[in-house]
Amino acid sequence: MTLQQVKVTRDIAFKNLVLGSLSDITRNQLLREAKCIELRKGTILLEQGQVSNSVYFPTSGLLIGIHEAHDGTSIGNTVRGREGAVGAIPTARTLHPKRTGAMGRLVVQLPGEAIVVGKSHFAKILNDSFELLRVTLAHAANVIKWHEETQNCSRHHRIENRIAYWLSLLFFYGSDDSIPTTHASIAEVLGVRRESVSMALRKFEEREFIKMERSKLQLLSPELMRNYSCECETTISDLAALHAAGQLTLDTKLTGSY
Ligand SMILES: [Zn+2]
Repeated sequence: MTLQQVKVTRDIAFKNLVLGSLSDITRNQLLREAKCIELRKGTILLEQGQVSNSVYFPTSGLLIGIHEAHDGTSIGNTVRGREGAVGAIPTARTLHPKRTGAMGRLVVQLPGEAIVVGKSHFAKILNDSFELLRVTLAHAANVIKWHEETQNCSRHHRIENRIAYWLSLLFFYGSDDSIPTTHASIAEVLGVRRESVSMALRKFEEREFIKMERSKLQLLSPELMRNYSCECETTISDLAALHAAGQLTLDTKLTGSY
């Protein structure tokens, strides 16, 4: 899983919005036992049901969680870029229910880098730091908002529009207009048949939205793709605003000691 480990500098840490929202004191405490890893596309960081020992703070790229149901169907249930973390919210959750395994397979969707902190170290600081609790709550609030805004996507939005949204999201997180993905990967994340994806992509190619290449898609018109997206595309504007702000803040006057 770990490909190349690099020392975590302040500049690297600030690329992640959760870490960048902390004071130097709290961030340094957290990073005392941290490492930076390269995220290679397709790497599985955690299998579904497996108990994680780590909290991942992406600084670039994109991590996704794919939940596989008993009937063999699957759907993406976690999308986490540099605005968030994987494993921070479960560390802060209640003791009941006790099930602690991952809700899905955690996989690198877009290559990049992440800072990894041991879960027990994160939990120890979370117990002592009102500040870390507050920033984790801000991150959790954003995750809940995203889920609420997209919860009807798989049931009520048309497949073609959903694919356009997913490709627009990948374009947002990616470094250029070449998106490394496959028909099978899109089908798995969206929980649809691969044939439906192929049909939609052929239509996109005819309309010159995309150019299909081996294991990647060239986005010829990100604007047209965005316009063709389902109404969930407003979440991309929210993400863009969050990335531009560079900080997670709670819109409350919540203060005090923990
Ligand atoms: Zn949608």
